[in-house]
Amino acid sequence: MRTEIASLGEFGLIDRLTEGIKLENESSKYGVGDDAAVLSYPSEKQVLVTTDLLMEGVHFDLTYVPLKHLGYKSAVVNFSDIYAMNGTPRQITVSLGLSKRFSVEDMDELYSGIRLACQQYNVDIVGGDTTSSLTGLAISITCIGDADKDKVVYRNGAKETDLICVSGDLGASYMGLQLLEREKVVLKGDKDIQPDFTGKEYLLERQLKPEARKDIIEKLAAANIVPTSMMDISDGLSSELMHICKQSNAGCRVYEEHIPIDYQTAVMAEEFNMNLTTCALNGGEDYELLFTVSIADHEKVSQMEGVRLIGHITKPELGCALITRDGQEFELKAQGWNPLKENKQ
Ligand SMILES: [Mg+2]
Repeated sequence: MRTEIASLGEFGLIDRLTEGIKLENESSKYGVGDDAAVLSYPSEKQVLVTTDLLMEGVHFDLTYVPLKHLGYKSAVVNFSDIYAMNGTPRQITVSLGLSKRFSVEDMDELYSGIRLACQQYNVDIVGGDTTSSLTGLAISITCIGDADKDKVVYRNGAKETDLICVSGDLGASYMGLQLLEREKVVLKGDKDIQPDFTGKEYLLERQLKPEARKDIIEKLAAANIVPTSMMDISDGLSSELMHICKQSNAGCRVYEEHIPIDYQTAVMAEEFNMNLTTCALNGGEDYELLFTVSIADHEKVSQMEGVRLIGHITKPELGCALITRDGQEFELKAQGWNPLKENKQ
């Protein structure tokens, strides 16, 4: 079934998409339905705001990304940025640009993914906008969150001798993207041929339905650790490490052998004949947390499940380097994954 968006009109569509939304957070005073949402944060909190704009054909490809997954991911990547400040996401606004290609049912799908993510992470949808676009789909989500005033973690606080930690594993999302790109030809063509993704489910999940590391933020709080610096890994470990070092006026040493990589990522890299460490350093969209802690927290952080120590912070003069398995030292480069860089725009 296909219902044209024009048949509902903008307000009809918004009503339908936001039907039944209940506000769960204390700070959400009034949501969808007036000229503006009303939020109220207690004075001991800092309010965090982050926003993200995703364009069809640049950031996502609907040939292989289901709309529900796209909705989920669009919301989660914003939550990830709030967690990366050591905060808690509380509200989002959702703005969409839609071409005539999209039906009301398509928007139901997209929104069901956004609403599922909000449910999982206890975030309220408090507003948004929809407008027509000449080509394709554009999704802009703004997320608002909070953190205790003395607990906000920036990128610029890393100090010499601090330990560098990373959550989860790296490079899987990038390998998932490579896999989907390879199978795209198949997906576009004969409908009877289904690509075989057996044994590669983890890679696809990491690319199509990433999660934000709320659990790590909770573990750090429970262990009474406030990282000295932190960010989420969206453009690749190498590039994010360089951001932390530059903003903290520091250098770093990371050890190849300590970079966490999943077995499926390694198998796929071999299949594609790609260098595994390069994939883990430069593959994007992991949405893991990269953070530094004082050496005094070594004991606590080394016992934390899902967290790996990968190196340490040095004096700025030493630069940012990777120490390979055979002890060689290479300067880290931010090849990154930023699509704007790829297209050299
Ligand atoms: Mg970020």
